[in-house]
Amino acid sequence: MSTKPCILVTGGTGYIGSHTVVELMNQGYEVIIVDNLSNSNVEVLDGIERIAGRRPVFENIDCLDYPSLDRVFCEYPQIAGVIHFAASKAVGESVEQPLMYYRNNLGSLVNILDIMQVHQVRNIVFSSSCTVYGQPDKQHLPVDETAPIQKALSPYGNTKQINEDILHDCAHACKQLQVTILRYFNPIGAHPSAQIGELPNGIPNNLLPFVTQTAARLRDKLRIFGDDYPTEDGTCIRDYIYVVDLAKAHVKAIERMLQVPEREQVEIFNLGTGRGLSVMEIVRTFMQVTGVRVPYEIVGRREGDIEQVWADPKRANTVLGWKADTPIADVLMSAWNWEKKLRGIN
Ligand code: UDP
Repeated sequence: MSTKPCILVTGGTGYIGSHTVVELMNQGYEVIIVDNLSNSNVEVLDGIERIAGRRPVFENIDCLDYPSLDRVFCEYPQIAGVIHFAASKAVGESVEQPLMYYRNNLGSLVNILDIMQVHQVRNIVFSSSCTVYGQPDKQHLPVDETAPIQKALSPYGNTKQINEDILHDCAHACKQLQVTILRYFNPIGAHPSAQIGELPNGIPNNLLPFVTQTAARLRDKLRIFGDDYPTEDGTCIRDYIYVVDLAKAHVKAIERMLQVPEREQVEIFNLGTGRGLSVMEIVRTFMQVTGVRVPYEIVGRREGDIEQVWADPKRANTVLGWKADTPIADVLMSAWNWEKKLRGIN
């Protein structure tokens, strides 16, 4: 396969980053990872290499370190675009330590955009989140990209919104800059090879890692936060998207930026399946497809939880020519296979 352009991936050893690096490399892209390993593990590079058959360039750099980041752009003048994942991402922690979140998440993007301009790198894909929509009104469900942005419920969510604003402002000021904002719904699962997957730090906040850790007996039981919501079974609804499908959307986004000159300068895409699943449906389906029991109890609602949200992914489907179509059974199985591999369970 002939080598395609070089893409710099910040946060490339993280959960979504590592899966994206694999998909880029599978498509022949040259990849440079910039990551400070603050919430990831250097061994992820071995997993990537085992899947892709070659190792990406890795630079252990914090995006707040301007001179080091600048050196990477000097050293690799062939960089054609940046996918920026690197960010702190724990909602609860962001409430406790807002300044750390504003410093890391805003400062990193500001540095990258500045250095991109210096080196005349024109294309950036930014990881945003459906949290920008908050709880959409019923008439906006499923949410498309035109749904109103709502005041963020956490500093983490606010950094996503401010970063989107920063990108709009920079695009306005510099007509050469091309921006793609990807708003993720709920990424879950692991690579089918079980060589890479999610590596939560401490007690998982997110549903799926908690489910798989409970199935692996690391946790006594799952606590389901509320069954008195106005949904069919009373539990919250989300749009769970397979991380490999999500990763493939990034490749499509990069391809479009590099190949379609008539695109809008800033394009925004919701990345979801278009289907909402309840917490209960996830837990039941997980038990069904894996044959493993997940003890659970219903407890009170979690503060700040969104009741229900799922994507209208039509724009991504038509404009990017991308669709999240991996069956949920396969997705849940991939999450379980990864957990088993981590814990040495047969
Ligand atoms: N959830 C749960 N127990 C947990 C973790 C999550 O019941 O231990 C629920 C949570 O209330 C929400 C859904 O699972 O309805 C997804 O939560 P997650 O934190 O994964 O995603 P987010 O709320 O950020 O969309």
